[in-house]
Amino acid sequence: MNLERNRTALVTGANRGIGLETVRQLDRAGFDVVLAARDAARGRAAARALGSSRIRVEELEVTDAESVEACARRLAGDGVDVDVLVNNAGIYPINSFFSLDEDTLRRALDVNLMGAFHTCRTFCPGMARRGWGRVVNVSSGLGSLTGNVPSPAAYGVSKAALNALTLVVSAAVPETVKVNAVCPGWVRTDMGGRGAPTSVEQGADTVTWLARLPDSGPTGGFFRNRTRIDW
Ligand code: NAP
Repeated sequence: MNLERNRTALVTGANRGIGLETVRQLDRAGFDVVLAARDAARGRAAARALGSSRIRVEELEVTDAESVEACARRLAGDGVDVDVLVNNAGIYPINSFFSLDEDTLRRALDVNLMGAFHTCRTFCPGMARRGWGRVVNVSSGLGSLTGNVPSPAAYGVSKAALNALTLVVSAAVPETVKVNAVCPGWVRTDMGGRGAPTSVEQGADTVTWLARLPDSGPTGGFFRNRTRIDW
């Protein structure tokens, strides 16, 4: 029996890069997938290219709580429960500390931290009520506090905060809802650039693995290449 059948996974920032590849992998695994994009037309174009009837496109701007709630209302109106939430949307400001202005830091926090805050607040209560859920926060080793200065400044701070949010949310939900963070590695996407050593398929692999954790799987952890890493 395919355990993923009848489960719905929502991926944010999914019109390109690691998000789009995660949609492809989850679709292949048998999930109904919501490809969420801040620009619905770009989302639809990306979904068309994948050519699967199980993919639904939703407009979702992660920095806007009302946009997240409106998406949730549309899904609920169609009887769709989100069982798996992949917080993938992200931006990568490259400024070092003394070239960083306040707006850039706020924007990084808005997308990379508050985005996951809004989606977790919206979708995790349903997972907790139904007694099953998986949340995957796409973070970065550049937000790690162990042996690292989180960097570049705004990006590192925002991903360190996302890691902290991962622990906070994992402690707030029942054990049946697994909440983990992942570093996808340095991945060949628009963000990672052409010189990155990791393919997008490999970058999304641990994201998908965490989305499909068995009931005995971990929660409140940070992973790369399917292996736990230090915060
Ligand atoms: P990417 O190719 O730049 O794609 C980023 C995605 O996020 C795009 O779909 C973008 O949408 C979306 N997005 C940005 N701001 C958004 C917002 N406010 N609301 C909704 N969607 C938004 O990046 P990627 O390499 O696939 O990265 C995906 C995730 O992996 C990010 O969280 C990133 O920090 C993390 N990561 C990447 C690497 C790497 O080497 N690539 C390494 C470590 C971690 P638009 O197309 O509309 O801009």
